[in-house]
Amino acid sequence: MKPIRTVLGDEPGRIAALHRLDILDTEAESAFEDVVALVRAALHVPIAAVSLIDADRQWFKARVGLDVSETPRSVSFCSHAIEDTEPFLIADALEDVRFANNALVNGPPNVRSYAGIPIRTAEGYNVGALCAIDHRPRQFTPTEVAMLCNLARIVEKELELRRIADRDALTGCLTRRAFAERAVVEIDRFHRYGRPCSLVMADIDHFKAVNDTHGHIAGDCVLREVAQLVMQLKRDGDVLGRLGGEEFAVLLPETSAGAARAAVDRFRRTLEQHTMTLPGGERLRVTASFGIAELIGGITMPDEWLAAADQAMYAAKRGGRNRCEICA
Ligand code: GH3
Ligand code: MG
Ligand code: MG
Repeated sequence: MKPIRTVLGDEPGRIAALHRLDILDTEAESAFEDVVALVRAALHVPIAAVSLIDADRQWFKARVGLDVSETPRSVSFCSHAIEDTEPFLIADALEDVRFANNALVNGPPNVRSYAGIPIRTAEGYNVGALCAIDHRPRQFTPTEVAMLCNLARIVEKELELRRIADRDALTGCLTRRAFAERAVVEIDRFHRYGRPCSLVMADIDHFKAVNDTHGHIAGDCVLREVAQLVMQLKRDGDVLGRLGGEEFAVLLPETSAGAARAAVDRFRRTLEQHTMTLPGGERLRVTASFGIAELIGGITMPDEWLAAADQAMYAAKRGGRNRCEICA
């Protein structure tokens, strides 16, 4: 359901909403590619894009007629589009003091006219814009703008569907498949740019006993609370997945195994001290065992990385549970 109003002027909330979409720096997806192709054909423009406005860049989830996958936010037209609820229209950038000296106007891709429709999340944040761009001055007609608005609504629905498809219904964590896709991106970044990343596996201790003693519904409740706790404690760019059963995993980009241990110690201690109230009113604490594997050259597939963290996690189980081990 659509919110009644758009939340404007809450930049930290907007950035958090964008990051919750888990879409930045992901691979091309046909749903968004189709929309920009439609914009180009329907409005007869050389350039169209789905632009997402991050803290200091615009990143294109889909684009036609553009060579780069991102630009600084400071030169972005779409960054203006997200400041309002209405379509943002520029008939001639050279006639507009805000854009006459813009690098994207005076150099490639030579923007001269622009139409952008804000893309809003279900919570009401404008996270980006669907835009049509021409190399010549141009008044976009009401019909063209209406068409662009309809296509922007389709982009919003696709963002929503994409989020639901990638999420585990019980906990809201990424599914195993979606998590593995994110792991592929990190493996790629490591092999290309040498950026470190650590993967943490977590398995709740004696979880079978929780089910046996309190019932399956109480067990589900515990899974949800554990996920929520980690969600609150992890950093913004960290990625939480539920791999299955009572097994979770967290990707910590830009993090060595040593630094990951500090994060895991926080997760582990907070969980250990956290009392949950079950649906039947009983109070319960659970612990978990953790294994950390930092990316190394020999890892080329998510399964290899998960297996390394899994081994470390089982060492933690054997070592007495409620502890953390780093893959040797
Ligand atoms: P350990 O400390 O060695 O990890 O012991 P454990 O009891 O946690 O491990 P085990 O793998 O024996 O048990 C996992 C249990 O998790 C068994 C299974 O019924 C339960 N489980 C798996 N998925 C779900 C779920 O979605 N909901 C609930 N409530 N329980 C689940
Ligand atoms: Mg298990
Ligand atoms: Mg377990």
